[in-house]
Amino acid sequence: MDVESLVRPHIHQLQPYVPPDLETIAARAGLAIDQLIRLDSNENAFGPSPRVAQALARYSGYQFYPDYRALREAVARYAGVTPQQVVLGNGADELINLIIRLLLAPDDAVVICPPTFPMYRFYTALDCHPLLTVPRDDDFALDMAGIEALVREPNNAVRPRLIFLPSPGNPDGQAIPLDVVRRLLALPLVVVMDEAYIEFGGETALPLLAEHGNLIVVRTFSKWAGMAGLRLGYALLVPELAGYLERVRDPYNVNAAAVVAALATFDDLETVRANVAHLIAERERLQRELAAIGWLEPLPSQANFILCRVQGCSGPELADALAERGILIRAFPTPRLQSYVRITVGRPEQNDALLRALREL
Ligand SMILES: *Cc1c(COP(=O)(O)O)cnc(C)c1O
Repeated sequence: MDVESLVRPHIHQLQPYVPPDLETIAARAGLAIDQLIRLDSNENAFGPSPRVAQALARYSGYQFYPDYRALREAVARYAGVTPQQVVLGNGADELINLIIRLLLAPDDAVVICPPTFPMYRFYTALDCHPLLTVPRDDDFALDMAGIEALVREPNNAVRPRLIFLPSPGNPDGQAIPLDVVRRLLALPLVVVMDEAYIEFGGETALPLLAEHGNLIVVRTFSKWAGMAGLRLGYALLVPELAGYLERVRDPYNVNAAAVVAALATFDDLETVRANVAHLIAERERLQRELAAIGWLEPLPSQANFILCRVQGCSGPELADALAERGILIRAFPTPRLQSYVRITVGRPEQNDALLRALREL
């Protein structure tokens, strides 16, 4: 029996996400895995608040299905909205997936502006929707005229319905100004502003929710709160739409550990905010010192990472050379980003090790 043929044809086209093989990289560098300096995935180098581990150890309700009321209220208070405007998800990724399922009929298309966060393309392909791309210009600015022309073009075969935009952007690090968001909201589209990095900079689109039912803001605890491994994200949207998003999520999509950890984070905002401030200060320092190296051109960033243009070798070559020294940064497979690398801002001593290695190359 041809087992492969059992799988739906469009699944054959999906590229599996391959996380870095830490064991092999560490062995090649002659290091243990926990000695690697991991600046490749925009994780928070300071980790979560120490209260998270304490609260997880003390929690006594793991045998019960989780209750989301307290967390929904705490997130609402943190974001400055009502609990009815909050939908929790198993990472922001799950919310991206659920938004597509909630809003798109079979021929409805998703609009993205590459280079961008790869999960928008992934979930669009997974659900067999057409994808429309409006590439950013050489400075990674949005092509607003291109987006407007695409959306207003009378094309009955494919109807653009949804646009996903990270702000601050991944991988470019630049935030989208609110006047641009307003222009997008005037189009017949649902605009998803992915604010995974908003605690590190940029202006939130949230105030526009009061006047725009077609806006959805998506955020995560992975980056600012150091909880990438616990998987918690949330969407902020008008209550009418939030009610429907609540209907399509699994009843227990967020696990009890993530709930406990997030509540502990809110109890220790001072520490977590100090870590964020420290990373922002390190970002500014790294920016200057990377530029001083001479063959790297760091772009301005409002996130916890810096996109750099590389001269003299390709991005993947630079990433490989650093990996041999136990330092991981992100290079990209796409031709458009061949001469770029993305560097997550780490703790001061990690950033120093990176700078030392770069100067030696
Ligand atoms: C990291 C990242 C996410 C993923 O968030 P999770 O909550 O970990 O799923 C979403 N969007 C962007 C732009 C990201 O960089």
